[in-house]
Order: sequence, then structure tokens, then C-alpha cells
Amino acid sequence: LPGALRGALADTIAAAVTALTPELFAFAQRLVRTPSLPGDEEGAHRIVAAKLQSLGLDTRIISATAEELNTHPAFCDDGIPVERRINVVGRLRGAATRNGARDAARSLILNGHLDVVSPGNEALWDASPWSGIIRDGRLYGRGSCDMKSGLTAGIFAIETLQRLGLALDGDVLLESVSGEESGGVGTLTTIVNGYRASAAIVLEPTSLRLGLVQAGALTFRVRIAGRAVHACMKNQGVSAIEKVCRVIAGLNELERARHVTYSNPLYEDPNNVAPISIGTIHGGAWHSTVPDDVVLEGRFGVLPGESIPAAQQAFADALRRVADDDPWLRDHPPAFEWFEGQFESGQTNADEPVVGALCGAHKAITGATPVLQGVTYGSDLRLFTNHADMPAILYGPGDVLKAHTVNEFIELDEVVQATKVLALMMCGWCGVAERR
Ligand SMILES: [Zn+2]
Repeated sequence: LPGALRGALADTIAAAVTALTPELFAFAQRLVRTPSLPGDEEGAHRIVAAKLQSLGLDTRIISATAEELNTHPAFCDDGIPVERRINVVGRLRGAATRNGARDAARSLILNGHLDVVSPGNEALWDASPWSGIIRDGRLYGRGSCDMKSGLTAGIFAIETLQRLGLALDGDVLLESVSGEESGGVGTLTTIVNGYRASAAIVLEPTSLRLGLVQAGALTFRVRIAGRAVHACMKNQGVSAIEKVCRVIAGLNELERARHVTYSNPLYEDPNNVAPISIGTIHGGAWHSTVPDDVVLEGRFGVLPGESIPAAQQAFADALRRVADDDPWLRDHPPAFEWFEGQFESGQTNADEPVVGALCGAHKAITGATPVLQGVTYGSDLRLFTNHADMPAILYGPGDVLKAHTVNEFIELDEVVQATKVLALMMCGWCGVAERR
């Protein structure tokens, strides 16, 4: 859009969103009050589907077959039957599509997941994790930040355009998906069902920064053998716990070395792009026995642009170097396996037109130049960039530090800002067809 028109439109949109805030807050609150733990997302999806239908979107409830997913290279099985993982896709049909010129205008996917992580020990929460309490401009509850409010912003951005009678040229697809936290089954389902657009915005809590790059993450298990003897004869045995210390030192050295060779200005902390972290250690049988068996589990960060096989090879090489340095480990090398989540990295170029479109809308609404960043966590961005051949951006209200925590909350002002930015961005990106 030309600058002057964008300015006028920004004001119009901002006023319309402000008028809608009571309904916007109530909708986000209703979603938070509807628990949607992995495998149990259906109730929340039904609320979204009804809302999209009421806005006149062509709304479908979709799932994928186990066969479609099992054969897909990006499928991460979280053990929950795929038939239970419904997803909602609502299509706001643009004028160009209605006239049969499907490729004539740019289209956009707004994507958000409805699954939430467990609230953990509910006794630690000030109120129920499903309270949806609004206090001092904040909405509280599991999923308020990650990421039911982001999804709500996307839905109400569409409603705002409709209230203003602004029809778009290109299509907008609102995708409400399951299973993001445990591998991305929902977004993958939309992809195998053929849903595509010129670009995607994944409405994760980024504090309204644009996330263009994400690291990947692999889950590993390492088993180290020792030789058990009575502790009083320690020197006759081999402590698997002491050998584990060598393995951990080797992995820390690998983490350091990988960050020395990798550099990407989008990351705030150059030493924390793709961390390697040990999450569990189990070993030993008795305090006075030299331990002969220890099992480590952890997370191995995949650098942006690095393939999963290359990351796995780096890990295997590091373990071999540790073993080569120790006579016992040389003869009894650590055994390892990859299990559960194996998430690729993903990236979108900063010079993609959709990045400029979103930056322009952000600046017009907030007055500030947006921050571009890389994130260290996994997300559905990678599925769009790697398996749907689409540029994708993480952008949404909420601070990721408030996600997955006790007393999770979101600042509602930021949800309102996001709604305004998304509405304006859709106008610029998809084109405004006519005033109805
Ligand atoms: Zn999330």
C-alpha cells in the first residue's frame, strides 16, 4: 500500500480493533478456560471453528491418516493416535480467487497451535491454570501466552477487516492446529492436506519481534558401562559415573566449538544458538558399590541450516573423541540412540517480501522499527520452510519467558497491538479489493 493510504488505514484499523477489544478479550479468555492438553485439543478447536464459521469463512475440520504421516520425513510421533488430532482451517476467500484468478494475488496463512503443555503442580499456581482471570491488563492461565492469545489476534484481525467492509484480493487461511509442543503433527496435517499460501505467520509469543530463524533439537540417550565392585575395592572396578563426567565434558566442549564456528547476527547470544543440555542422569545401584551402568538423556541443538544427519554425525564424532582418550571407554564405547522428538532447524531470508510487509505494518501501528531475531526453540516454522516451500515468520504477542511457567500470563495490550498489525499487514500483503 502507498504510505499515505497505509497511514489512514492504520488509524482506521486501530480504531476498529479498539472497539472490538471486549469481544477479543472474552474470546481469548474462553479459549484459556477450555483445557487443551495434547490429545485433548478438540473442545478448543470447536470454539475456533464456530467463530470462523460465524465470520463467514469456509471452515474445515481436518485430520490426517497414520499412513500419510508415518511416511512423511518430518513426522514426529508423540504416541497419541493421529485420528484424535483434529485441526481447523478457515479460508477467507479473496476477490481474486472468487473471480477464478487463484494466482493473481498473494495469499497468507495465519497459524497457531491450541495444544498447551501441562500446568505441572497446580498447587504452585495462584489460581487454577484454567481460570482465565483478567487482572491489571493481564490474562492468566495455561495457554494464555503460548499461544491462545496469538491465535485470537489472528482471528480478530480478520473480523476487523470484515467489520470495516474491507475485502482482500488474496486468500487468508486461519489454521488452528494440534500437537505443536510435541512435534508439529497439526501443521504437518495441513501440509499433507495441500494447504499452501504465499507466506505464513506463525503466531507464537515473540514479544512482537519477527522470528526468521529457528534452531532444531534432537533428543538423545547415552549409555555408559563400568565395572561394579565393592566400594572398598574401588580401584579394582570402573565407575560409570566418573566416565560420564568425561562424556559431559566432551559434549560441553562440542557445544562451545560449534558456537565458535557458527555466526548469525539474528541471535542475541552467540553462545546460545543451539545448546546441548543433559536433562536426566540415572545410574548406580547402591551407595557402596562402584556403579557399572549410567544412562544420560538430553537435547542436542541443531544449528540453523544444519541438517539432522550432520548434527547427529557431530555428536557421534564427539563421543568417539571422548572414547579415544580413555583406555576403558576405547574398549567399552558409550552406546547412544536418538529417540522421541527430532526437530529440524528452519529459516526464512530477511529479504523475503513478506518480511518487509510485516515490518511495514508493525512500524505503521507501533511507530517502532521491529526487531528481527533468531530463536533457540523449535516451532512449526520449520515445517513451512522445509516441507511446504513457503517463507514463514514467527510473530505474536507475549513473552516466551512467560510460556510453560507457573502463573502464565499475557499483557492484553500486546494482543491488541498484534491484532492491529496483522489486520494492516493482510491489507498490504493480500491487497484490498474494493469497499463492499
Ligand atoms: Zn507455542
